[in-house]
Amino acid sequence: MKITWDSEAEKTLRRVPFFVRTKVRKKVEEEVAAAGRNRVTKADLEESKRNHLKRLSEGVKGYSVEACFGSSGCQNAVVTSADLVSNLESLLEKADLLSFLRSQLGDHVKLHHQLRVTLADCPNACSQPQIKDIGIIGQAHISCEPEECTACGECEAVCQESAIILDDGLLVSIEEDLCVECGVCARVCPNSAISTTANDYRVLVGGKLGRHPQLARDLTNGLDAEQVLNLVGVIVNFYKANAKSGERLGALINRVGWEEFKESVL
Ligand code: SF4
Ligand code: SF4
Ligand code: SF4
Repeated sequence: MKITWDSEAEKTLRRVPFFVRTKVRKKVEEEVAAAGRNRVTKADLEESKRNHLKRLSEGVKGYSVEACFGSSGCQNAVVTSADLVSNLESLLEKADLLSFLRSQLGDHVKLHHQLRVTLADCPNACSQPQIKDIGIIGQAHISCEPEECTACGECEAVCQESAIILDDGLLVSIEEDLCVECGVCARVCPNSAISTTANDYRVLVGGKLGRHPQLARDLTNGLDAEQVLNLVGVIVNFYKANAKSGERLGALINRVGWEEFKESVL
Protein backbone atom coordinates (compact mmCIF):
# COMPACT_ATOMS: atom_id res chain seq x y z
CA MET A 1 0.00 0.00 0.00
CA LYS A 2 1.41 3.44 -0.93
CA ILE A 3 1.52 5.74 2.10
CA THR A 4 1.27 9.52 1.67
CA TRP A 5 1.89 12.30 4.20
CA ASP A 6 -0.22 15.41 4.71
CA SER A 7 1.60 18.75 4.76
CA GLU A 8 1.40 19.21 8.57
CA ALA A 9 2.90 15.76 9.12
CA GLU A 10 5.72 16.49 6.63
CA LYS A 11 6.42 19.79 8.41
CA THR A 12 6.58 18.05 11.80
CA LEU A 13 8.86 15.33 10.41
CA ARG A 14 11.33 17.99 9.20
CA ARG A 15 11.87 18.97 12.86
CA VAL A 16 13.12 15.44 13.66
CA PRO A 17 16.97 15.31 13.70
CA PHE A 18 18.17 14.40 10.19
CA PHE A 19 20.12 11.31 11.28
CA VAL A 20 16.98 9.54 12.53
CA ARG A 21 14.44 11.09 10.14
CA THR A 22 14.40 8.22 7.63
CA LYS A 23 13.99 5.70 10.43
CA VAL A 24 11.13 7.68 11.97
CA ARG A 25 9.39 8.00 8.57
CA LYS A 26 9.60 4.26 8.03
CA LYS A 27 8.34 3.45 11.54
CA VAL A 28 5.36 5.82 11.33
CA GLU A 29 4.40 4.49 7.90
CA GLU A 30 4.51 0.93 9.25
CA GLU A 31 2.23 1.91 12.15
CA VAL A 32 -0.23 3.72 9.87
CA ALA A 33 -0.30 0.77 7.44
CA ALA A 34 -0.84 -1.63 10.35
CA ALA A 35 -3.87 0.49 11.33
CA GLY A 36 -5.26 -0.05 7.79
CA ARG A 37 -4.77 3.54 6.59
CA ASN A 38 -2.63 5.06 3.85
CA ARG A 39 -2.20 8.71 4.91
CA VAL A 40 0.04 9.96 7.74
CA THR A 41 -1.16 12.89 9.83
CA LYS A 42 0.58 15.00 12.47
CA ALA A 43 -1.41 13.08 15.11
CA ASP A 44 0.15 9.82 13.85
CA LEU A 45 3.63 11.25 14.32
CA GLU A 46 2.83 12.43 17.83
CA GLU A 47 1.31 9.08 18.74
CA SER A 48 4.39 7.29 17.39
CA LYS A 49 6.66 9.53 19.48
CA ARG A 50 4.61 8.83 22.64
CA ASN A 51 4.84 5.08 22.00
CA HIS A 52 8.58 5.32 21.38
CA LEU A 53 9.19 7.19 24.66
CA LYS A 54 7.01 4.70 26.51
CA ARG A 55 9.02 1.77 25.12
CA LEU A 56 12.25 3.51 26.12
CA SER A 57 11.10 4.18 29.68
CA GLU A 58 9.89 0.56 30.03
CA GLY A 59 13.46 -0.60 29.29
CA VAL A 60 14.98 1.62 31.99
CA LYS A 61 15.95 -0.17 35.19
CA GLY A 62 18.32 2.39 36.68
CA TYR A 63 21.52 0.50 35.93
CA SER A 64 23.16 -1.74 33.38
CA VAL A 65 25.79 -4.43 33.73
CA GLU A 66 27.68 -5.48 30.62
CA ALA A 67 30.56 -7.84 30.01
CA CYS A 68 32.91 -8.63 27.17
CA PHE A 69 32.87 -12.00 25.39
CA GLY A 70 35.57 -13.43 27.65
CA SER A 71 33.26 -16.00 29.24
CA SER A 72 32.29 -17.30 25.76
CA GLY A 73 35.77 -18.73 25.40
CA CYS A 74 37.89 -15.78 24.30
CA GLN A 75 41.50 -16.95 24.42
CA ASN A 76 42.67 -13.59 25.78
CA ALA A 77 40.63 -13.78 29.00
CA VAL A 78 42.81 -13.65 32.12
CA VAL A 79 39.92 -13.76 34.60
CA THR A 80 36.59 -15.59 34.72
CA SER A 81 33.91 -13.06 35.52
CA ALA A 82 30.57 -14.82 34.98
CA ASP A 83 29.87 -15.08 38.75
CA LEU A 84 30.98 -11.51 39.35
CA VAL A 85 28.64 -10.29 36.60
CA SER A 86 25.64 -12.01 38.16
CA ASN A 87 26.60 -10.82 41.67
CA LEU A 88 26.87 -7.25 40.37
CA GLU A 89 23.42 -7.61 38.78
CA SER A 90 21.99 -8.67 42.15
CA LEU A 91 23.76 -5.89 44.02
CA LEU A 92 22.53 -3.20 41.63
CA GLU A 93 19.00 -4.58 41.55
CA LYS A 94 18.87 -4.47 45.37
CA ALA A 95 20.21 -0.90 45.33
CA ASP A 96 16.99 0.08 43.51
CA LEU A 97 18.62 2.82 41.50
CA LEU A 98 15.45 3.30 39.47
CA SER A 99 13.55 4.49 42.56
CA PHE A 100 16.50 6.70 43.45
CA LEU A 101 16.54 8.27 39.98
CA ARG A 102 12.76 8.68 39.98
CA SER A 103 12.97 10.48 43.34
CA GLN A 104 15.12 13.07 41.56
CA LEU A 105 13.73 13.08 38.03
CA GLY A 106 10.13 11.91 38.35
CA ASP A 107 8.95 10.21 35.15
CA HIS A 108 11.83 11.64 33.14
CA VAL A 109 14.34 8.87 33.87
CA LYS A 110 16.00 7.91 30.58
CA LEU A 111 18.50 5.27 29.55
CA HIS A 112 21.32 7.81 29.68
CA HIS A 113 20.70 8.39 33.42
CA GLN A 114 21.42 4.75 34.27
CA LEU A 115 24.53 3.76 36.22
CA ARG A 116 26.62 1.72 33.79
CA VAL A 117 28.97 -0.97 34.98
CA THR A 118 31.04 -3.04 32.59
CA LEU A 119 33.57 -5.83 32.87
CA ALA A 120 36.38 -6.77 30.52
CA ASP A 121 38.18 -10.05 31.09
CA CYS A 122 41.51 -8.72 29.84
CA PRO A 123 43.20 -5.36 29.19
CA ASN A 124 41.97 -5.36 25.58
CA ALA A 125 38.87 -3.87 27.18
CA CYS A 126 36.43 -4.76 24.38
CA SER A 127 33.42 -3.79 26.52
CA GLN A 128 34.65 -0.17 26.71
CA PRO A 129 35.12 0.20 30.48
CA GLN A 130 36.84 3.54 29.88
CA ILE A 131 33.52 5.23 29.02
CA LYS A 132 31.35 3.66 31.72
CA ASP A 133 30.53 4.89 35.22
CA ILE A 134 32.34 1.89 36.67
CA GLY A 135 34.76 -0.11 34.53
CA ILE A 136 36.31 -3.36 35.76
CA ILE A 137 39.25 -4.86 33.88
CA GLY A 138 40.89 -8.24 34.40
CA GLN A 139 44.67 -8.29 34.48
CA ALA A 140 47.52 -10.78 34.86
CA HIS A 141 50.49 -10.00 37.10
CA ILE A 142 53.71 -11.28 35.58
CA SER A 143 56.96 -12.39 37.16
CA CYS A 144 60.30 -13.24 35.54
CA GLU A 145 62.92 -15.86 36.21
CA PRO A 146 65.60 -15.05 33.60
CA GLU A 147 67.72 -18.06 34.54
CA GLU A 148 64.96 -20.31 33.08
CA CYS A 149 65.05 -18.57 29.70
CA THR A 150 66.21 -20.57 26.65
CA ALA A 151 66.13 -17.65 24.22
CA CYS A 152 63.26 -18.96 22.09
CA GLY A 153 62.06 -15.42 21.35
CA GLU A 154 58.34 -16.24 21.67
CA CYS A 155 57.63 -13.63 24.34
CA GLU A 156 59.15 -10.80 22.35
CA ALA A 157 57.21 -11.87 19.26
CA VAL A 158 53.81 -11.74 20.99
CA CYS A 159 54.21 -8.66 23.20
CA GLN A 160 52.45 -5.80 21.43
CA GLU A 161 53.87 -3.27 23.88
CA SER A 162 57.59 -3.97 23.31
CA ALA A 163 57.83 -4.47 27.05
CA ILE A 164 60.11 -7.53 27.01
CA ILE A 165 63.77 -6.74 27.56
CA LEU A 166 66.11 -9.35 26.09
CA ASP A 167 69.89 -9.41 25.89
CA ASP A 168 71.35 -11.66 23.24
CA GLY A 169 67.93 -13.31 23.03
CA LEU A 170 67.84 -14.06 26.76
CA LEU A 171 65.23 -12.56 29.07
CA VAL A 172 66.44 -9.72 31.28
CA SER A 173 63.20 -8.24 32.62
CA ILE A 174 59.84 -6.72 31.70
CA GLU A 175 59.46 -2.96 31.40
CA GLU A 176 56.74 -2.26 33.95
CA ASP A 177 55.80 1.12 32.51
CA LEU A 178 55.05 -0.46 29.12
CA CYS A 179 53.44 -3.71 30.26
CA VAL A 180 49.61 -3.68 30.27
CA GLU A 181 49.38 -7.02 32.13
CA CYS A 182 47.69 -8.96 29.35
CA GLY A 183 49.51 -12.18 30.30
CA VAL A 184 50.17 -13.28 26.71
CA CYS A 185 53.94 -13.63 27.20
CA ALA A 186 53.41 -15.98 30.16
CA ARG A 187 51.08 -18.13 28.05
CA VAL A 188 53.66 -18.62 25.30
CA CYS A 189 56.80 -19.01 27.40
CA PRO A 190 57.70 -22.72 27.28
CA ASN A 191 60.05 -22.67 30.27
CA SER A 192 58.38 -20.73 33.11
CA ALA A 193 60.87 -17.93 32.63
CA ILE A 194 57.78 -15.72 32.52
CA SER A 195 54.76 -16.73 34.57
CA THR A 196 51.54 -15.28 35.92
CA THR A 197 51.55 -14.77 39.68
CA ALA A 198 48.01 -13.47 40.10
CA ASN A 199 44.90 -12.69 38.09
CA ASP A 200 42.76 -9.91 39.47
CA TYR A 201 40.97 -6.68 38.62
CA ARG A 202 41.54 -2.97 38.37
CA VAL A 203 38.63 -0.59 38.75
CA LEU A 204 38.05 2.63 36.82
CA VAL A 205 35.34 5.20 37.53
CA GLY A 206 33.67 8.22 36.03
CA GLY A 207 33.78 7.56 32.28
CA LYS A 208 31.01 8.93 30.09
CA LEU A 209 30.12 10.20 26.64
CA GLY A 210 27.48 12.82 25.90
CA ARG A 211 27.85 16.59 26.07
CA HIS A 212 30.95 16.53 28.28
CA PRO A 213 32.71 13.25 27.51
CA GLN A 214 35.51 12.00 29.71
CA LEU A 215 37.48 8.80 30.15
CA ALA A 216 37.19 6.84 33.39
CA ARG A 217 40.09 7.23 35.83
CA ASP A 218 41.97 4.43 37.57
CA LEU A 219 40.62 4.12 41.09
CA THR A 220 42.34 1.02 42.41
CA ASN A 221 44.08 -2.17 41.42
CA GLY A 222 44.74 -5.75 42.45
CA LEU A 223 41.24 -6.62 43.73
CA ASP A 224 39.71 -10.08 43.74
CA ALA A 225 36.07 -10.55 42.70
CA GLU A 226 34.73 -10.19 46.24
CA GLN A 227 36.66 -6.98 46.80
CA VAL A 228 35.36 -5.61 43.49
CA LEU A 229 31.80 -6.39 44.55
CA ASN A 230 32.29 -4.67 47.92
CA LEU A 231 33.84 -1.62 46.28
CA VAL A 232 31.01 -1.30 43.76
CA GLY A 233 28.57 -1.45 46.69
CA VAL A 234 30.41 1.41 48.42
CA ILE A 235 30.51 3.48 45.22
CA VAL A 236 26.78 2.95 44.65
CA ASN A 237 26.04 4.09 48.22
CA PHE A 238 28.22 7.16 47.69
CA TYR A 239 26.42 7.87 44.42
CA LYS A 240 22.97 7.57 46.02
CA ALA A 241 24.00 9.79 48.94
CA ASN A 242 25.50 12.56 46.81
CA ALA A 243 24.25 12.59 43.20
CA LYS A 244 21.93 15.45 42.25
CA SER A 245 19.34 15.62 39.49
CA GLY A 246 20.38 12.37 37.86
CA GLU A 247 23.99 13.46 37.33
CA ARG A 248 26.40 10.79 36.11
CA LEU A 249 29.03 9.42 38.48
CA GLY A 250 31.78 11.21 36.52
CA ALA A 251 30.04 14.57 36.94
CA LEU A 252 29.53 13.87 40.64
CA ILE A 253 33.24 13.05 41.09
CA ASN A 254 34.19 16.25 39.25
CA ARG A 255 31.92 18.23 41.56
CA VAL A 256 33.12 16.76 44.87
CA GLY A 257 36.77 16.37 43.81
CA TRP A 258 38.82 13.28 42.95
CA GLU A 259 40.70 13.10 46.28
CA GLU A 260 37.54 13.54 48.33
CA PHE A 261 35.82 10.84 46.29
CA LYS A 262 38.71 8.42 46.76
CA GLU A 263 38.81 9.05 50.50
CA SER A 264 35.10 8.32 50.70
CA VAL A 265 35.11 5.01 48.82
CA LEU A 266 38.53 3.39 49.41
S1 SF4 B 1 38.22 -7.87 26.63
FE1 SF4 B 1 39.74 -9.49 26.34
S2 SF4 B 1 38.74 -11.35 27.12
FE2 SF4 B 1 37.15 -9.83 26.74
S3 SF4 B 1 36.42 -10.25 24.65
FE3 SF4 B 1 37.99 -8.65 24.53
S4 SF4 B 1 39.87 -9.76 24.11
FE4 SF4 B 1 38.41 -11.26 24.89
S1 SF4 C 1 51.94 -9.11 30.01
FE1 SF4 C 1 51.42 -8.45 27.91
S2 SF4 C 1 52.15 -6.34 27.78
FE2 SF4 C 1 53.13 -7.27 29.56
S3 SF4 C 1 55.07 -7.99 28.81
FE3 SF4 C 1 53.65 -9.71 28.68
S4 SF4 C 1 52.81 -9.62 26.60
FE4 SF4 C 1 53.81 -7.66 27.01
S1 SF4 D 1 59.36 -17.04 25.84
FE1 SF4 D 1 60.37 -17.62 27.76
S2 SF4 D 1 62.07 -18.91 27.13
FE2 SF4 D 1 61.37 -17.84 25.30
S3 SF4 D 1 62.66 -15.98 25.19
FE3 SF4 D 1 60.83 -15.43 26.31
S4 SF4 D 1 61.35 -15.74 28.46
FE4 SF4 D 1 62.88 -16.84 27.25
